Amino acid sequence: MSSSVLIIDDSVTVREQIIRTLESFNLFTRYYEAEDGLEGFKKLLSSPVDIILCDLEMPRIDGFKFLSMLKARPDLQDVPVIILTGMNDRERKIKGLERGASDYITKPFDHEELVARVKVHLKIKKLQDELKRSNELLLELSNTDHLTGLFNRRYMMEALDKEVQRSIRKGGNLSLIMLDIDHFKLVNDGYGHLQGDVVLHKVALQLQKELRSYDCAARYGGEEFVAILPDSSLKEAVFVADRIRLAVQSTRFNGQLAKLSLTVSLGVSWFSNELAGTVDGFIKQADDALYRAKANGRNRVEFHDPSIAARLTTIDVAAT
Ligand code: GH3
Ligand code: MG
Ligand code: MG
Ligand code: MG
Repeated sequence: MSSSVLIIDDSVTVREQIIRTLESFNLFTRYYEAEDGLEGFKKLLSSPVDIILCDLEMPRIDGFKFLSMLKARPDLQDVPVIILTGMNDRERKIKGLERGASDYITKPFDHEELVARVKVHLKIKKLQDELKRSNELLLELSNTDHLTGLFNRRYMMEALDKEVQRSIRKGGNLSLIMLDIDHFKLVNDGYGHLQGDVVLHKVALQLQKELRSYDCAARYGGEEFVAILPDSSLKEAVFVADRIRLAVQSTRFNGQLAKLSLTVSLGVSWFSNELAGTVDGFIKQADDALYRAKANGRNRVEFHDPSIAARLTTIDVAAT
């Protein structure tokens, strides 16, 4: 595995000594050098490294300033830094560790001690990276519906809440599509549950394909899906919903499902501050529209029209 180190020191001799020592133990595949904190920081931005050895006393940007710059960057702050200090520099060692250095080496350094410390910090870094990756994977799993690979309902509710808040704050368009497969029970009954799962996966793919990268598609439950469309007017969302409907209708299945023709019904709603007000109200509007799509014959799109709803509310109020 390739690994790299950055050595920052204003003394060429020190840099050369360190590189020679590390090279003799075959610890790294790439070595970067810099003569002060600024040059080091620039090198780091263009070539990420696994560990940094950094002198404290240097012209322009010294080791302390370099540490502060590094720790201010979330993408770089986990790179271990071993500071290079003088033998009797007790105060500066402490200050460096307080500023976020992982360890120190006293100059003139003992070669084996240098290598041993570098190895320890590389190992810790490797474990930390693995832990970070596992956590990311866990987060991804906890947000994902395992059958379809779409987001799950939990994630979708969080995302919708954020989009609704954003829309209230900034007043942008926000639409929601709810999709339900028509007569899906018949698919399960006719072809078996496993083939039913294949169908769910395929519908999820079709749904995703018709959306933009910043839309959010989720499995809401069973054979129901939801798509959140930020910056989409009701008209645009209805257009997308119908494209999804047509895409599913023209989907051809393979193998045992070759004879299956599948359709979906969709309900669309548009978030308006005054009427929907809440996330639940917003979902209900899409759900009601979906219910109407089913009642009106399936394989169709219905939408919640806020202007009609506003007029109805006015009439209701006037009648009472
Ligand atoms: P409608 O057109 O009114 O929506 O009819 P439908 O048959 O699609 O609706 P219904 O609610 O009666 O049936 C939904 C079916 O979806 C029942 C349930 O067994 C099935 N289902 C839910 N989750 C899964 C799943 O993960 N895999 C499979 N294969 N089937 C599922
Ligand atoms: Mg120096
Ligand atoms: Mg259903
Ligand atoms: Mg259904």
